[in-house]
Amino acid sequence: MRKIGEVRTQSPVYETEPWGDADQAAFLNAVVVLESSLRPFRLLRKLKRFELELGRLRTRRWGPRVIDLDILDWQGEPLSTSVLTIPHPLMEERGFVLRPLCDVDKEFKLPSGKTVFDILRTGSFDKQVQRVIENW
Ligand code: ADP
Ligand code: MG
Repeated sequence: MRKIGEVRTQSPVYETEPWGDADQAAFLNAVVVLESSLRPFRLLRKLKRFELELGRLRTRRWGPRVIDLDILDWQGEPLSTSVLTIPHPLMEERGFVLRPLCDVDKEFKLPSGKTVFDILRTGSFDKQVQRVIENW
């Protein structure tokens, strides 16, 4: 991330049981706030290049991968195209996104209009994620 901007905030790392396709090892998840001059499509291309450089191979969807770099939000501006959708459409259903997102910005407004803090307050995501690394 430091190659493409300034990392302003980073969440702890959470361990999550596999989602979608349960027959695989646990995942590690974190959220960073990045300040960068890159616009969304250029940013996505860079992230995809990092994924390849780090050894990500194209396997089954939601299957094991060494790294997955997604854009959750870009300056609060929505975008909907075939290659890029912002805010990330599934973030509201995923404890492994909401939990670290809450650490970097608890007032973050989700597409439903609720804040990430309000959604997590229900407690329904607590069992899905476990904080494993504080600083990285
Ligand atoms: P996953 O859904 O598990 O992240 P991939 O990383 O393989 O799966 O992403 C598949 C495609 O999703 C990417 O090639 C990209 O074009 C598209 N995509 C759409 N919206 C986003 C987003 N907000 N962040 C990252 N990728 C996105
Ligand atoms: Mg991805």
